[in-house]
Amino acid sequence: MLDEYCPDLLVLAIPLRNKFRGITTREVALFRGAQGWSEFSPFLEYDDHEAATWMRAAQEAANAPWPKLFRNRVAINATLPMVEPTHVREILSHFPGSTTVKIKVDDFEKGALLVDEVLNLNAEMRIRLDINGGWSAEQARTNLLEYHLRFGKVFDYVEQPCISLSDLAEIKSDIAIPIAVDESIRKNLSAEFSSFSNYADIAIVKWQPVGGFAAAHTIAEQVGLPVVISSALETGVGISHGLALAASFSEFNYACGLGTVALLESDTSTPTAMVSDGYLEVERREPVGFERYLATPERTAFWKQRILRVLELMEGQG
Ligand SMILES: [Mg+2]
Repeated sequence: MLDEYCPDLLVLAIPLRNKFRGITTREVALFRGAQGWSEFSPFLEYDDHEAATWMRAAQEAANAPWPKLFRNRVAINATLPMVEPTHVREILSHFPGSTTVKIKVDDFEKGALLVDEVLNLNAEMRIRLDINGGWSAEQARTNLLEYHLRFGKVFDYVEQPCISLSDLAEIKSDIAIPIAVDESIRKNLSAEFSSFSNYADIAIVKWQPVGGFAAAHTIAEQVGLPVVISSALETGVGISHGLALAASFSEFNYACGLGTVALLESDTSTPTAMVSDGYLEVERREPVGFERYLATPERTAFWKQRILRVLELMEGQG
């Protein structure tokens, strides 16, 4: 079954330059289908049911042609993990030409130091804050008022300030910064998306977590908000499919969060998935120079078992 559905399987474990979403190593499975290389890389804490959605994306990208593309390059935002301000310059240096940065924050005091440092380095930078649903409605109101008073109109949007839709609805009319939803979409794929304009101004859509190209377009149509395509911290192989997704929308005005290979110790794809001049080219990529990142036999066995369980679950679902 593995050879049939995931030919040429590679399991890689790539260290991150800085801790990001609580992990220090990114484990991914790469395989090759009729159309080229694809990536299956649900995070380790995700159960098989959620991972099956990621596998649907991975299988579609491996075996079906890309959707119709409307551009051959995509503007990319820089991604700044929650780090000490002294690290900001070095991290931003991996996103040459990017004019937008997404910053992971969990409060005002420390987050403001990161915004300050970014603006010191480039006063023109557009800022996105990503809270990952960490605030109550009250905290969101207080913190976002502080950010607005301190920095004014530098913000593109704040991503998922609260986790619940009712909290988002409650704060939406009170805050001066547009709201983007991420977890509200990828963790609630059966949600009533047509009501999302009550909660948000922008929809973050991710290639693997929503289940691939066709699923992403269905969600985008239902949500009816401008979309931003972001990564799930994939290698360049998975990033290629995110880029194709971004290029498959006829109208598109935002920089995308697809430069995250810069957060990995090394790019293991060709052509490179490292940002140049603020953009990435929309091309299929394949693994290269990955030998030193091959996972241990134990971790490889874990991924093979995981893939088999997920494939069997999908087969049962028909
Ligand atoms: Mg997010």
